Amino acid sequence: MEIQSPDRLIRLAVDLVNTRTREPEQLTSPAALRAFLLEHGEPEPIELNEDDLIAVRAVRERLRPVFDGEDGAKVLNGLLAEYAVRPYLSDHDGAPWHLHVAEPDASWAEWLAATTALGLATFAAGHGFEALGVCAAVDCERVFVNPAERRPRRFCTPRCSSRTRVASYRARQS
Ligand SMILES: [Zn+2]
Ligand SMILES: [Zn+2]
Repeated sequence: MEIQSPDRLIRLAVDLVNTRTREPEQLTSPAALRAFLLEHGEPEPIELNEDDLIAVRAVRERLRPVFDGEDGAKVLNGLLAEYAVRPYLSDHDGAPWHLHVAEPDASWAEWLAATTALGLATFAAGHGFEALGVCAAVDCERVFVNPAERRPRRFCTPRCSSRTRVASYRARQS
């Protein structure tokens, strides 16, 4: 259970929330959650069961409103109060020095809650909550972060942006 860079924590938070959008649920099994963690750089051994999956999904549902601009600070402060501990440096298992903010024996859900809340809180403190968003495309619920403060962004990807442009053009034509 590692923390390397703030960027990595942001990606973890955004990707976790985006595992459930209008597209089919991606965290369908403990194996799927395991694959998600491996993809995000977590080292083996990763052991998970059905309870971990349920708890991680619950953390995910708590994170989503942070991107809606509703009570973001309240949600993040709540998660930090519940799951984060006093930060400490560790070089366990031969890893380079890195910061831990969860209990050493935290479950995966507790670890994800503490680290993603810290990542999002750091990002919001640097860029403001307006730099966190939910895609404005009608059939998309993906969330994103936008560190480019001078360029407001409404869509998760250029694909959603151009899809929406085409749809509104067609609506005007008919
Ligand atoms: Zn570690
Ligand atoms: Zn989108």
